[in-house]
Amino acid sequence: MEPTIDRTFIRRAIELADLNAVRVTLYQHTHDPEIAALPVAAQLDETGREVLVAKAVDWLCEHADPAMPAEPPEVELRALMDMATGGHMGDLEFESRRDLPAFKAFPWTVEWSDAKPDLPEGFQVAIIGSGFSGLAMAVQLELLGIPYVVLERRPDPGGTWSVNRYPDIRVDTISITYEYSFEKKFPWKEYFGRGAEVREYLEYISKKYGVFTHTRFERELTSATFDESRDLWVLELQTPDGVETVEANAIVNAVGTFANPNFPRFEGQEIFGGQILHPARWPADFDATGKRVAIIGNGSTGVQLLAPIAEDADQVHVFQRTPQWISPRDKYGKPVEPEIRWLVDNFPGYWNWWRYMAIASLFGTHGYLVADEEWKAQGGKFNPMNDKLRDDLTGYIKVQTGGRQDLVDRLIPEYAPFSRRPVVDNGWYKALTRDNVELVTDDIARLTPTGIETVDGTVREVDTIVTATGFEVAKYLWPARYSGRGGIELHEQWSVDGPRAYLGMMVPGFPNMFTLYGPNSQPLSGGTGLPIWYVIWSAYAARCLVTMLETGRSRVEVKQEAFTRYNTDLDETASNLLLLREEGAPDKNYYVNSEHRRLQVSAPWYGPEYHRMCTHVNWDDLELA
Ligand code: NAP
Repeated sequence: MEPTIDRTFIRRAIELADLNAVRVTLYQHTHDPEIAALPVAAQLDETGREVLVAKAVDWLCEHADPAMPAEPPEVELRALMDMATGGHMGDLEFESRRDLPAFKAFPWTVEWSDAKPDLPEGFQVAIIGSGFSGLAMAVQLELLGIPYVVLERRPDPGGTWSVNRYPDIRVDTISITYEYSFEKKFPWKEYFGRGAEVREYLEYISKKYGVFTHTRFERELTSATFDESRDLWVLELQTPDGVETVEANAIVNAVGTFANPNFPRFEGQEIFGGQILHPARWPADFDATGKRVAIIGNGSTGVQLLAPIAEDADQVHVFQRTPQWISPRDKYGKPVEPEIRWLVDNFPGYWNWWRYMAIASLFGTHGYLVADEEWKAQGGKFNPMNDKLRDDLTGYIKVQTGGRQDLVDRLIPEYAPFSRRPVVDNGWYKALTRDNVELVTDDIARLTPTGIETVDGTVREVDTIVTATGFEVAKYLWPARYSGRGGIELHEQWSVDGPRAYLGMMVPGFPNMFTLYGPNSQPLSGGTGLPIWYVIWSAYAARCLVTMLETGRSRVEVKQEAFTRYNTDLDETASNLLLLREEGAPDKNYYVNSEHRRLQVSAPWYGPEYHRMCTHVNWDDLELA
């Protein structure tokens, strides 16, 4: 039933809303000095709060409108952004943040400098993968009118969101930040959208922007070979009907980082008579009712799936090798109220400022990563900000486990928070306190025909083992074979010290090849969430192709010297960060390449600096031919 939209409903909506976003949205419309004088929401007293709520309700009763406002002029936009966070940002920060509220239809995307040139006959780009990043690239090429084909190994779009269907899978950053900047106001049912909803969103994008009809499903790339005589990539694809060949002038690898599950090998695995499941291969008909289940791993996946399995199973044993810092998120698991949905649709600009506020909560993350030696000399563990978080999370663990010391002693990590990818609590700690759940911290020795034996000789009888053991993250673009100029092999080149790229995207010897979410590309600090970066990386690749086409060339490639310099700087910058230091947990972190002991997944740069590198092509570093 549709709700009645009256003053009471609108007041409820404002009271449930992000009051900072309300404050800035209202000020954008009214320029009311009384609103400007209010502090950020966290510092509002009762009187100030009432002023804000009452004024917002009054305004909305008169002006509710589904239209999105035009982007304010730059000076005003910057002032509104400062007002939102209650501080003054520098020029570099403004440059990287100005499109976060996403007033433009297609922020960050690239256009032709003039009229679209005639493209060489048969010109096309091949995008490998139709997950989040492949779709972003396809939409960018749609906007430019550059022909492309998406080659997807699965029968549907969605990438990792199509593959992973384990219980309670959902995003762990608020959904409003998990939207493309060009597709706004998706009607998420929950604040943290479930996997099925994210799949729905991606399929909707694929169809809405015409990508679906350019996608060839069940086409798995097995090899990509650059033909120097024609400046073409020749791609071999495995299909259900045999091998197929596709030629493309450029390729964009959008195959994701979590593409290859890590299947652990335990002694005795072959004699175990029960079922072994990896979450990335979850059977649709799995029912834990009445079963004895082991869950190995407590990363984001293992944590997400414990609570729903524990509800149904007879007994669950959670095998934890290393404790994690697991933190709560406001509104996790909660439905988006009809009042908030209405506000998003009818308070012009609220969506933009709500999104900006949600992303702004990540601006300060760099502060967690850099050591304060003076603080340490005085007995601190890493730096004041990081230590404060450690204390808060330690307190949280104690509360969630009801003070059960046997659990608390084994759940508090020794390494500093933010050394590894933060894990979000969906009730994991609470689930550990259930009568039918046991936390096991002894190492696994072997599997027996009916269970798991730990090094202390205890055997736990189980029917099902869930190996929530993550992914082989260091195996970028694997197992396909890539042969570049002069027949050089990408994986051979990467065997020296792990996968490397320039800006995470380009490798010398591999012209017209771009990788999205490639090695060392995930922004570590001052970040803005990955969906925005899929658009930014796509725009970088598009900018290179646009210039190549506008200047009548057929190759664009990073120079060896630029690649080497970039990676030397990257290693140096990374070495100062928590992740590679002893206060972190470098040997227990998939962000770090375990074989070569170097940062692998993340871009170590301060976020706004990396944003500048990726939005301004440095043509001195590239070669056009
Ligand atoms: P993960 O973070 O790599 O965690 C793997 C877990 O398995 C760790 O606890 C690890 O222990 C354990 N493990 C691995 N091999 C083992 C072995 N041989 N014996 C015992 N334990 C073993 O993997 P993940 O949980 O799948 O998460 C990967 C990433 O996917 C996340 O960081 C996140 O980026 C993404 N993700 C996101 C969401 C979301 O909500 N948006 C959900 C799931 C995943 P150690 O710690 O000792 O290595």
